[in-house]
Amino acid sequence: MSEQGPAGWYRPVAKIPDRVAIEQDMLARWESEQVFARLREQTSDGEPYSFLDGPITANNPMGVHHAWGRTLKDVIQRYQAMNGRQLRWQSGFDCQGLWVEVEVEKSLGFNSKREIEAFGLDRFARACRDRVATYAGKISDQSARLGMWMDWDRSYYTMTDANISYIWGFLAECHRRGWLQAGHRVMPWCHRCGTSLSQHELADSHAEVTHPSLFVGLPLDGRPGEALAVWTTTPWTLPANVAVAVNPGARYALVRTLAGDVWVAEARVGHLPVPGRVIQVRAGADLVGRAYRPPLPDLPVQQSGAVHGATAQHTTAHRVVAWDGVSLEEGTGLVHIAPGCGAEDFELGRALDLAVLAPIDEDGRYADGYGWLSGRHVADVDAHIISRLTSAGCLLHAGLVRHRYPQCWRCATPLVHRVVDEWFLACDQIREPMRAAAAAVSWRPAHFARRMDDWLANMGDWCISRKRYWGLPLPFYLCRAGHLTVVGSKDELLALAVPGAGPLPELHRPWIDAVKVACGTCGAEAARVPEVGDCWLDAGIVAFSTLGWRNRRARPGGYAEGAGEGLTAADLPDHGYWQRWFPAEVVCEMYEQIRLWFYSLLFMSVVLDGRAPYRGALVYGRVRDERGREMHKSRGNAIWFDDAVAAVGADTMRWLYVSQSPSRDLSFGYGAARQAARRFLTLWNSYAFFVTYAGLDRFRPAGELRDSGPEAAALAPVDRWLLARAQQLIRHCRSGLDQLNLPAVTTALDRFADDLSNWYIRSTRERFWGGEDTPGKAAAYQTLWYALVTTVRCLAPVMPFAADDMWRNLVSGVIPDAPASVHLDRYPVVCEMYEQIRLWFYSLLFMSVVLDGRAPYRGALVYGRVRDELRVMLAAHQDAGRRDRLAGLADLVARECNVMELHVLAPPGEFTRAGFSTAGFTTGEVTTGDGWAVALDTTITPALDLEGRARDLVRRIQRLRKDRDLAVTARIDVTFPEDEAAVVAALGPWIAQQTLARSLSPGAGLDLAVTGTE
Ligand SMILES: [Zn+2]
Ligand SMILES: [Zn+2]
Repeated sequence: MSEQGPAGWYRPVAKIPDRVAIEQDMLARWESEQVFARLREQTSDGEPYSFLDGPITANNPMGVHHAWGRTLKDVIQRYQAMNGRQLRWQSGFDCQGLWVEVEVEKSLGFNSKREIEAFGLDRFARACRDRVATYAGKISDQSARLGMWMDWDRSYYTMTDANISYIWGFLAECHRRGWLQAGHRVMPWCHRCGTSLSQHELADSHAEVTHPSLFVGLPLDGRPGEALAVWTTTPWTLPANVAVAVNPGARYALVRTLAGDVWVAEARVGHLPVPGRVIQVRAGADLVGRAYRPPLPDLPVQQSGAVHGATAQHTTAHRVVAWDGVSLEEGTGLVHIAPGCGAEDFELGRALDLAVLAPIDEDGRYADGYGWLSGRHVADVDAHIISRLTSAGCLLHAGLVRHRYPQCWRCATPLVHRVVDEWFLACDQIREPMRAAAAAVSWRPAHFARRMDDWLANMGDWCISRKRYWGLPLPFYLCRAGHLTVVGSKDELLALAVPGAGPLPELHRPWIDAVKVACGTCGAEAARVPEVGDCWLDAGIVAFSTLGWRNRRARPGGYAEGAGEGLTAADLPDHGYWQRWFPAEVVCEMYEQIRLWFYSLLFMSVVLDGRAPYRGALVYGRVRDERGREMHKSRGNAIWFDDAVAAVGADTMRWLYVSQSPSRDLSFGYGAARQAARRFLTLWNSYAFFVTYAGLDRFRPAGELRDSGPEAAALAPVDRWLLARAQQLIRHCRSGLDQLNLPAVTTALDRFADDLSNWYIRSTRERFWGGEDTPGKAAAYQTLWYALVTTVRCLAPVMPFAADDMWRNLVSGVIPDAPASVHLDRYPVVCEMYEQIRLWFYSLLFMSVVLDGRAPYRGALVYGRVRDELRVMLAAHQDAGRRDRLAGLADLVARECNVMELHVLAPPGEFTRAGFSTAGFTTGEVTTGDGWAVALDTTITPALDLEGRARDLVRRIQRLRKDRDLAVTARIDVTFPEDEAAVVAALGPWIAQQTLARSLSPGAGLDLAVTGTE
């Protein structure tokens, strides 16, 4: 593929490249030439650029949605390496937790925790570990195929003793601060997985489901014929009823219906599904304290003795209680309260000291004491309960309701709420430090800063325990007296261990459960609690565990106790290593990670070090299918990575990912991929044109490859224009990559490829076709070669395969001592002559109008920032017809050429008009060769500068509106960077009018919030 053509000249290329074949060929060459190893070697003394890879779950092969983030990460790393920066190139694998367990369960044919325990926790742990090893290998291979360069043999794994030991140190620190709490709380619970879920696991997982909608009458004691009407969509909670709540500030009506007289909130009378008329109205407070008969009074737990239970002070059982939280927006305005089945009920129960009836066990079956319900499953009882209520005569109405309901994110089982003992990290004290740390992070796109802050402002205590098996063992040990000992590292565990425990091959269940320790308070034997940890603890510690951080609070750091997979003792980093590489310059993950990995990283880092572990965060969206639907294995619209890369090649996929605005979800499909591949043909055609003719003409570029381009006296204006455009390409690619605005890179490359093909080559073809003595032929080759090589260098991080393939044909063997691979070259830098050359660019655009009489090529100037705007362009021609034609287009040309005014003049000679002459122009004149003469005034006055900056600000705000898909009429509040204060002071009203802004206020960066519509 990359061999030189005959006799060392350029190898001719196919009209349409075989992308997959080129990529396979490049993979083999990179391997045999050790290109990546050489890159690491040549950057080993460079200034560190710390990238922290978020661990990918090693649980399944990659889908196309994984490839998005991995591409962005690779682009960032390759670019920084081309800048000479030293990188760690460490990838990470997430290894523990429910997602691995559920897949292993599936592969073993299990569907309950009982089956796992019968199988044996040791065999189950081994099966989980095997699955991780299998898919870590698979994902590494797939990532390499994507072109991702990582030091795959040195990946980190979250299941190692070292990682676990670091988390223990963190938990011990939280305990020392008094934030670790064992809580008896109502949690969302998956009865299939047998575990509770925390707030961050719940946020995105809801489904439309149909539930019963029951209106139940609860007879009032001592008032025959009167009942309280309550409404529920969860009949399974009725057996745990202990109270009915009313809103004490609302009015309640007694309604006479065919089924008897029932109390409902006056505001809800019209919503009762049975006809009736109001016969009495009272204040809610008047109902408080009245006793009623519970919905299922025959259940043993509902006998008052049981409800009052061991704690005889529960005197409010089966009475009406007051609660300000009772809604008058739905139901009857009387709320059935079951503190064992709902978080709000539980809180109310705590405040009023109500009994807590916990009806179901961890598998979802009714516990003892529930009579005919005991042993039945919560999913099967609705019909039975309804028929009991009917025969007791207290069912007023039964219907159905369709609503969004939370489900388990892993297995889609509808969740129930259950009282459980879990471990929590209290977060009230860390909330403000975390918000401050997050505010110091540079979020890209900027609006994600607000999303993180919203999450932190509202986060509840972190539920860190899971009642499962393959996970971080929580290092909490309880003695018989109930003293809690928190073990802070593996070393500490071994030091505290009571003799007699078996071997401890790894810090996992079941082996660790056999180790007992001496209680830190009384010295008695203490056993570990059975819970494992939230997997976001595993991933959140890696900014410390992978970099060799040492806790100075005298707890031995974990790393020395055992290297990770694939690491030897010599690889163990020390604390100095951590200091060098912490914090990361950037982390890059999808937006869900704001409440997951970005959150847990931040939490743990603020606890251990007081600051954010990343300076920047690049956040991107979700991958959907071509029709915009979420991809699901079960729906059959998920695309596996292997299929996609075989069909369209990795470069095309990478281009799609890089060009996608990270604020929006990406619609991935073969149609979009084919479109991207077709766009690439524009560049490929120019390249093919060059190698064809340059091979025939045996052209060799003169001299070395320079960022500034060739120096040739014979350069035509159009050559200079292309060289100026190449400088602009470098500038836009660099600023896109530096600011993590990656779509700007593909946009710049796309437009340059268009200019190269549709403008430069089309207008200069004859110079390539002519004989040896064609004027300007050598300059044309020199220019085109330089433009192609510059494109390839700019393209290298984005499309590493195609770029290297072209580089090898255009440069290797042609330029002495040039790097063998484009990836061993530097990323080009803008040369200082740019400003001068830019003028030729403007002049050529101007010529395009004048010479062709057609609309100038659009887009070429779109990226010229308005602050570069020039003031006046003058054009003169002998021919009155030509002058008239241009004058008719003056506004358009001025806009396209980024000048404020264009004046068309008749010679003779001097460009003069009232007020100034060419003498006042700071730059020279251009003659187009067909009679036009042009001059440009490049003076930028302070007022012009302000205006330019104001236009630039407007443009950025408009882009932000577009990125957020705002309606064109949406009114906004704008926050602008403080360094634009002078611009806003001068031209604020104009900016506000242009952008429909209601307010403009200074802040950390540019951002906006919608305040309504016009
Ligand atoms: Zn589940
Ligand atoms: Zn003790």
